[in-house]
Amino acid sequence: MTVLASGSKGNSTLIASSTTRILVDAGLSCRELMKRMKAAGEEPAALDAILITHEHQDHVQGMAVTARKLGIPVYLTEPTHRAWVRWMTPQKRISYAEWLQKRRQEAEDRRQAEGTGCRVQGAEDGVRRSAVGIQEKEGLGIRDQGLEQNGAEGNARCSAGVAAEPDEEEKAAVEEVIAEAAREPERDPASLPSVEYFRSGSGFRIGDIAVTPFTIPHDAADPVGFVFEADGVRIAIATDLGYMPSNVSVQLRRCDVLMLESNHDVDMLRDGPYPWSVKQRVMSRVGHLSNDAAAEFLEKGYDGGAAYVVLAHLSENNNLPELARISAERALRDRMSLLANHLLLAEQDRPIGAIVL
Ligand SMILES: [Zn+2]
Ligand SMILES: [Zn+2]
Repeated sequence: MTVLASGSKGNSTLIASSTTRILVDAGLSCRELMKRMKAAGEEPAALDAILITHEHQDHVQGMAVTARKLGIPVYLTEPTHRAWVRWMTPQKRISYAEWLQKRRQEAEDRRQAEGTGCRVQGAEDGVRRSAVGIQEKEGLGIRDQGLEQNGAEGNARCSAGVAAEPDEEEKAAVEEVIAEAAREPERDPASLPSVEYFRSGSGFRIGDIAVTPFTIPHDAADPVGFVFEADGVRIAIATDLGYMPSNVSVQLRRCDVLMLESNHDVDMLRDGPYPWSVKQRVMSRVGHLSNDAAAEFLEKGYDGGAAYVVLAHLSENNNLPELARISAERALRDRMSLLANHLLLAEQDRPIGAIVL
């Protein structure tokens, strides 16, 4: 298992058995994903499939380009697919290229507003973008059911930890789609080489990896976490969840690797720059797991049996790696040893070393 990226600017993790390689989420541009895979000693062409947890931008940004480039299937739930297709499909009154151009312009406007200091105080990216989305809807008829379905947050990335500065990775992903659309203007931008639907709670296999998706509480169409089993090894991924429900905590038992969200420090979030509405959303039961909530699970709900615990989806604005680490270490206390509960922190800007079991 290699965490290629984790955080509100993009998420992607590689899970590999001796014969099968799966990318869980593709929230970086295709180019960056490939770069990081190669840096981690993995060959992108050897990927068998992409699995998607939910349709927020920080999880799907590079999904389509990567799937098309490698000609590999995308596994997701039908509601997640529908939400993504709605987000990707412009109405007839505006071309897809024009819509992308608008998105690029929005990013530029944001940058300029920030540069001149007239940034909405602490405005969070998702909120700003959804406001623009509403203008677009009224003025140009962009189809934005995704925005409606997902509430004010729209299809923006998970809001916790969204940085106020321009997101180079998002820009790169958009540029990539524009370049691709210029080469093949006739192709439906929401096309994928092949789509495989799964349902939460129903296990399936990809090669020799058994996959069990489970529902997580998060403000997306049909968000899931995953358990992977192969070669006698069990790996669980649970990020982007507002709290730890019992159905999730049951799935996290008997794991060899547990990747768990430790998104924010509650005090940093409370005292930080986000508008109150966003703070409420992050703290809500469909937001993100705080350091305290992750620690509470590690102390009381977790069986202590994993060789590795990976803290993930840390907010850049509302958390510090050391705070997340201290909370988890305190919770795990005497259960940490050379063989068990080795604590790792996933990073936004670079892959962490492969976990090999
Ligand atoms: Zn999310
Ligand atoms: Zn996320």
